[in-house]
Amino acid sequence: QSQELSQVQIDYHAALQALVEDGTRMVCTGRMHTDRICRFESLCFSTEAVEFVFFHSNSSVMLPNLGSRRFQPALLDLSSVEDHNTQYFNFVELPAAALKFMPKPVFVPDVALILNRFNPDNLMHVFHDDLLPIFYTMLQFPDLDMETRLFFMEGWGEGLHFDLYKLLSNKQPLLREQLKTLGRLLCFTKSYVGLSKITTWYQYGFVQPQGPKANLLVSGNEVRQFTKFMMEKLNVSLEESSSEEYIIVFSRTINRLILNEAELILALAQEFQMKTITVSIEDHSFSDIVRRISNESMLVSMHGAQLVMSLFLPRGATVVELFPYAINPEHYTPYKTLATLPGMDLQYIAWQNREEENTVTYPDRPWDQGGIAHLDKAEQERIIKSQEVPRHLCCRNPEWLFRVYQDTKVDIPSLIQVIRQTVKSKPGPKRQKWASGLYPGKVRDAKCQASVQGTSEAKLSVSWQIPWNLKYLKVREVKYEVWIQEQGENTYMPYILSHQNHTFSENIKPFTIYLVWIRCIFNKNLLGPFADVLLCNT
Ligand code: UDP
Repeated sequence: QSQELSQVQIDYHAALQALVEDGTRMVCTGRMHTDRICRFESLCFSTEAVEFVFFHSNSSVMLPNLGSRRFQPALLDLSSVEDHNTQYFNFVELPAAALKFMPKPVFVPDVALILNRFNPDNLMHVFHDDLLPIFYTMLQFPDLDMETRLFFMEGWGEGLHFDLYKLLSNKQPLLREQLKTLGRLLCFTKSYVGLSKITTWYQYGFVQPQGPKANLLVSGNEVRQFTKFMMEKLNVSLEESSSEEYIIVFSRTINRLILNEAELILALAQEFQMKTITVSIEDHSFSDIVRRISNESMLVSMHGAQLVMSLFLPRGATVVELFPYAINPEHYTPYKTLATLPGMDLQYIAWQNREEENTVTYPDRPWDQGGIAHLDKAEQERIIKSQEVPRHLCCRNPEWLFRVYQDTKVDIPSLIQVIRQTVKSKPGPKRQKWASGLYPGKVRDAKCQASVQGTSEAKLSVSWQIPWNLKYLKVREVKYEVWIQEQGENTYMPYILSHQNHTFSENIKPFTIYLVWIRCIFNKNLLGPFADVLLCNT
């Protein structure tokens, strides 16, 4: 490994001198540890202490300079999972003069992105917590390009999906354990620490039961830009192949099985008159799975991490998620949330096994595979009798594990019925381009004119020009919303109008000041911004 770093030649003496004289320089974005990403020059890492080191000198910079708030609880989250106390980043401080007494630093010449992977053996976590956040963190900072070196500091081995991480940069990612082989004191010439959380859509239930994140900031467009990149790297072409469309049953082979899979496949093929195939992580290469999924119409699978592969489904395709007995689909929605992100354009269907005789439980397995033999008898009985797992926190709830690792014989008529409620004809990818939701700009040149009739009646004529961007757009329906508020009152009269002018006479009083708010609406639900308020005197 050590040869790898020396591919880029650096002037060692100049680098050492710069470190001693300039120390470490850090400038971060973000106001809190949960939204912070930091850029460093000359951040070091002691592989003996397993600590990052910040060297102070006359030229060092530490922004934000938090004092001891840096430990409350940390400078930043090193993984994309929010505020997880095993994923915090910090450094210890030393004067640059201490370098005289320390091991000779080994410089990392590559621009580094330093982060923790959250759970590299689970495909959902790999995509949601690591790959998408890495991809968009790299897009955020122009220094981070295909020559970036990724450093995974969580301390795990490569994990099952290391090949996927390798697609994000031309350089081999390095694991924390490998750093020891490079030297005792590593100094990153230029590095970024932390990950953007902007693309994550799910919280796993560490402090409240799991569910979609409160403020989703990602849409299908960004997700698909990422999958397009991954497909290019995997050499899966996006070009519309002439091959027929089909249904995929994504099966699990170790646990949480579909017991009547063959029967299910036949039934789906017959019902929808489409070729139906199975894939599994165990039996297919990753690019093979992506190639098939990116071309299919319907993905059917047990709840589980493999469903994150619906990232690669074409627009218009359908995701059918199967839930074992006693698992309420509404309570576990990582894949529903993904499929229903705005602009993802997937149809999502959940089916749950409601027949106890169609489930197979494994009370005697180890606890982490759903066994409950270690619990006391009364608790075991309660769990076995229960018809629904109550809401719970992550990650070791035995009732949840017991139920989620059941095998299921799928009741085919009930499944087909649920699918048919949503998919009326043949399921198929939408080939037409997604009518992206573009929002109107402000209306322009708003004016008002008042006319008073007598002492009790008045009229207010308001006119405005179309938003500037409208003349470049084809919009199905353009409407205007106008609010008229008497100055000093906190209620207003709302109107939806089709034209660019209107004369208001209802409830308009003479010798009164009105505030008029106007905005444009495209296609019923694309609400534009209000123009500056218009003051009208009658
Ligand atoms: N996995 C699999 N086949 C199986 C069981 C698991 O491919 O029969 C994969 C699964 O897709 C995930 C990882 O193994 O990537 C961990 O599975 P686990 O059941 O722990 O997590 P879950 O799928 O419930 O998120």
